[in-house]
This record gives sequence, structure tokens and C-alpha cells, in this order.
Amino acid sequence: MQFQTADALKRLPEQFFARLVGKVTAAVRAGHDVINLGQGNPDQPTPPHIVEALKRAADNPEFHRYSPFRGHAFLKNAVCEFYRREYGVTLDPEREVAVLFGGKTGLVEIAQCFLNPGDTALVPDPGYPDYWSGIAMAGGRMEMMPLREENEFLPDYRSIPETVRKSAKLMFLNYPNNPTGAVASRDFFRDTVEWASEHGILVVHDFAYGAIGFDGKKPVSFLEIPGAKETGIEIYTLSKTFNMAGWRVGFAVGNPSVIEVINLIQDHYYVSLFGAVQAAAAEALLGPQDCVRDLVNLYERRRNAFIGTLRASGWDVKPPAGSFFCWLPVPEGHSSESFADLLLEKARVAVAPGIGFGNAGEGFVRVGLLTDESRLAEAAQRMTRLGLFEKIR
Ligand code: PLP
Repeated sequence: MQFQTADALKRLPEQFFARLVGKVTAAVRAGHDVINLGQGNPDQPTPPHIVEALKRAADNPEFHRYSPFRGHAFLKNAVCEFYRREYGVTLDPEREVAVLFGGKTGLVEIAQCFLNPGDTALVPDPGYPDYWSGIAMAGGRMEMMPLREENEFLPDYRSIPETVRKSAKLMFLNYPNNPTGAVASRDFFRDTVEWASEHGILVVHDFAYGAIGFDGKKPVSFLEIPGAKETGIEIYTLSKTFNMAGWRVGFAVGNPSVIEVINLIQDHYYVSLFGAVQAAAAEALLGPQDCVRDLVNLYERRRNAFIGTLRASGWDVKPPAGSFFCWLPVPEGHSSESFADLLLEKARVAVAPGIGFGNAGEGFVRVGLLTDESRLAEAAQRMTRLGLFEKIR
């Protein structure tokens, strides 16, 4: 028998990238040496001291029982210490921190917490598709905020029509940005706080790539801005900073009334994460941080190898300022999808077509810096050998 699913599930967006995975798998099965730069899965292992902390904690019978519903106090205290040390932000561990099963969970939950059917959420375009999923499940409406190159891939609040602005309840932002690699300045966040608080819009800043800023520039936390805590929250994950994507641990910090509602919905969905994962997460936040510096340096070397090779052969591309993605304009006469197909077929390099991140992503492809420098340089060589690219003027 085929059972009917709930309407909320029918609204879920199509998984665009499943198609890409299928194409790459077919090329690999056909025996081709594909360099897969299409995904966003960190390739490095979790630093050993964090893995050791998990192993020790796994032996502790206290963690074999249910965790406290809203997470262990030691982890919430560690989050506060991390934000104080890294960003000079003071947080109350009980009222201003919610422990999450990875950032993704929080990003999907938040729409369900604050949107009624028909309510509007502002979404960056291009942007991370999980924002769409939560909005769809809540029955909300998405209004796209185009991120244009001429505006440094930041939204232009003043160009949002008044009717949209008035109906908006929630807004997603994400810097360092997936997919464009752009970072936000303090001035941009100041403007965001001012604009969002004037119009009563809840800001959800996705800080997934918070640790990954290049050329010696540390990305700014939204919460560093005076007034930010009144206006919104930030969602942080250990997936990228500490190569812990498989561990599923993150947290939301900021406005206490919003944090309370996240905790409330989670009281109904889950009991918090395995205590030993929480212990290892606390070790990651409080323990030695050279692993983070080494990781950022690694991504920066990869970026330089990839972009440097493209530029040396005359392709005019800009290096990303943060995240581990490069956002490349496609050559004349191509769509992002036809170009990605061409690269897979002729260069055996897989990239993600920009259209998968929203309509304003058309005209670009995303490259993940998630393989070693020599493979990245080789990918760049294979791409430039096609001879399709705009010359540096
Ligand atoms: N936000 C962005 C922009 C991402 O790219 C990702 C993961 O790729 C996430 C959030 C979610 O990360 P996680 O659920 O592993 O914490």
C-alpha cells in the first residue's frame, strides 16, 4: 500500500544536488578520474585531542543515561567562554545558549518556531538550501534577497519592496558565505541591526564558516554588534571549525526569548545529544586552538593553489575572503548547469551549478576546496585547458 504523506512534506524543495551526485557517480563508475569539488564535506579528520575526549567520556556511565533535555551545563558554559574569548561577547549559559544537533537542525527548526502559514521569511539568494526546507515545512513564504557581485554579495535592504519588508518576520544571513565565499563587515552588520530592529524582523545569522577567514582577517560575529542580541541569534556549528561534521553538534546563541523557543521545540523533538559528544564538544571549544589556525592556513593554501593556477592561465577570477568555497563566473554562452556538465564531461571536474542555490546563483559555479593542493591545481589546469575563459584585462 502507498500511504499519503502530510501536506507539509509535499512542500519540501526538490533536492537539486541529488542530480549532481548521480552524474558524478555515473562518471566514476565509467572509470573516469573525477576530481569532485561539488560538495561541502570537510575532508580532514577531527583533531586527536577531541577524539580522545570522546573516548574518555564514552567510558563515563553518567553519559550512558539520558542527557539533560537542554544540554549539559558544562557545554553551555564552554560555549559562553568560547564566545567571550573569540568575540568578546558575553552570554548567559542558561538563557542565551541552545545546544543543537548541528547547525542544520537549528536552521530548520527556527522557521517552525516563528512562522505561521503564509508568513514571510527573507532568504539570501544564492543561499544554503536548508533555509528553504524549514520555511516550506512551516508553510511560510520565501522572499529572496539577491546577493549581487556588485554589492559584494551582501543583500541590499533598501531595494526590498515595502510590502515585502512589512510582511517579513524572519531573515536568514550567512557570512562567511556559502556559496559565494564573501564575508560581512562590521558596518554591514551594524546596518542589519538597525534595519531589522526598525522593522521588527528576527535575524538568524548562520555562522557555520565563522572560523574560516583568509588573509589574516577574522570573520565578525553578528553578536559583536551592539543591539544584535535584541535583534536576533547566531547559529554556530563545530562541523567546519573542528572538522566534526559527522558528530552533529552546534549551538544557537543570542536573544533569550528566541533561545527559549528553540529549547521548547527541542524539548518535544529530542532529548539532547549523547553526553560524551557534548564533553568532546566542550574540549573542542576550550582546548588547544592551533588545530583551527592550521586548518584555516590549509584552506588558504588550497585557495591560493586553485585560484593561482586559474589566474596564471588567464582566467579572471576573484579569490574568496572566507569559507572553503570559490564562486566562479561561468563563460559566455553557458548556464551554470551546462557549464558544470561540460566540466564533468570534458575536464572530469565536478562543481556545483549556482542555480542550485537560487536563481541569483545562475551564472556561477561553486568549487569546494576540500581536496589537497595538488589535486586542486590539477583541477584548475584541466579546467583552463578547455580554453573557454575570460582573459584578465
Ligand atoms: N550552514 C551552512 C551555510 C552550511 O554550508 C552548512 C553545512 O554545509 C550548515 C549550515 C550546516 O552544518 P551542520 O549541520 O553540519 O552544522
